[in-house]
Amino acid sequence: MSTERVYLTTTIPYVNGPPHLGHALEFVQADVLARHHRLAGDEVRFQTGTDDNSLKNVLAAEAAGIPVADLVDRNAAAFAALREPLALSFDDFIRTSSDPRHRPGVERLWRACAASGDLYQKDYAGLYCVGCEQFYKPAELPGGLCPEHGTRPQQVREQNWFFRLSRYAGRLQGLIDTGQLRIEPAARRNEVLRFIAGGLDDFSVSRSTARARGWGIPVPDDPGQVIYVWWDALGNYITALGYGDGEGSELYERWWGHGSGRRIHLCGKGVLRFHAVYWPAILLSAGLPLPTDILVHDYLTIGGRKISKSGGAGAVAGPAALAGRFGTDAVRWWLLREVPRVGDADFTVARLVARANEDLANGLGNLVSRVTSMAHRYRQGGLRPAPQAAAAGAGPLLDACGLVPDRVSAALAGFDFRAATTALWEIVDLANRYVERAEPWRLAAAERAGDAAAGQALDAVLGTGIRACRTLAGQLAPFVPDLASRIAAACDDSSGRLPEPRPLFPRIG
Ligand SMILES: [Zn+2]
Repeated sequence: MSTERVYLTTTIPYVNGPPHLGHALEFVQADVLARHHRLAGDEVRFQTGTDDNSLKNVLAAEAAGIPVADLVDRNAAAFAALREPLALSFDDFIRTSSDPRHRPGVERLWRACAASGDLYQKDYAGLYCVGCEQFYKPAELPGGLCPEHGTRPQQVREQNWFFRLSRYAGRLQGLIDTGQLRIEPAARRNEVLRFIAGGLDDFSVSRSTARARGWGIPVPDDPGQVIYVWWDALGNYITALGYGDGEGSELYERWWGHGSGRRIHLCGKGVLRFHAVYWPAILLSAGLPLPTDILVHDYLTIGGRKISKSGGAGAVAGPAALAGRFGTDAVRWWLLREVPRVGDADFTVARLVARANEDLANGLGNLVSRVTSMAHRYRQGGLRPAPQAAAAGAGPLLDACGLVPDRVSAALAGFDFRAATTALWEIVDLANRYVERAEPWRLAAAERAGDAAAGQALDAVLGTGIRACRTLAGQLAPFVPDLASRIAAACDDSSGRLPEPRPLFPRIG
């Protein structure tokens, strides 16, 4: 298998509140991809962080009556602390307000675009949604309200710096058409192509320091303006690699430079335009490589309601509390098994509990427990080789075990976590049905009555069952790493026998 170098990023959430389950979805999806690539032998760097410089953070701090720095410190810490409860394996976590790597990189990116002639000053009046941190055209506002937030944008008039986005429409379209910039799912790619075809306007990339309440990164050589927070935030994908030290810096060259491997951004559908249009155009202007893949997820609703930006995830607890109550595996499994590739998914605690009990406790837990318990009951925990002829009926299960790694890889390459977990679930189903049909208890009775062939058939059933469980342990590792390692431990006979069976995943509720 040829290995590659893979740089994976999540978007960096603004931290006007603590993390909600929608954030957890993207972190877990990225984590699965990172773990999957690492297991395939690829070189992986997985990065996340927080967007501290958003005006929304300033407004939240004003509302709370505390300094902005205190608010972002507290909330950013809550995001970083998701690492353990969600079993995230990120290699780097950047905070845009306090990380010393960030500001020099943002300034360098600004100067590179200025050197290309793509930044200019203009008087501007427009409708600005603070929630989105973007200007809208009146035609984009149904009923005069922001389509994301349902709020009325502010009328803003000031002199700002503008970026010549209009210059890059043709090149962007070509890069997306040819797949050099791959956007999944296809419906999202088509949405971007339609947006480009509708004409790209230059966009404002600064705001007055007064309107920003003095928070953010000043425009180089123009201290009356701060850099637009999206420019600042998108820059994190390269500033964390040391781009601010120059293009020759080692991490930057390794993970983003010309000739590096794949550069994959995950993002939600609401920020697609920033990732698939604005960011690539900025990089083109600066003469830097583009991302290779943009993987776009839809949104979660909670109990039928949109997760509001003002922390209104309703009565449902945040992801750390959910993991504390129901376990990391149950939370990750729900996100990966229930959320479709296209279309929003609705979360309720009852659905999380039902899914974990049905799949992890009943399906998978029963399989591992019955196979290891029988190995103890009939073979004192020791597995014996069986002649192939004794393994009647094992063919379909063994074939499925052989094929599942490719099916999982193909599903993940298409950013389809549900297809990947469904492929794994077919193994659990097949294995449970195989064991039931083989009736090992009947084989054991026949063996005790002197039937040596029945004894060999029993060895084959146990061996095949353990093999299916080990396949599952390996393939589930990126999805539910803790549970997968418990399965691997339950099936480990390197000491000559399997460990005493223990409940793998107790029912929750
Ligand atoms: Zn908005």
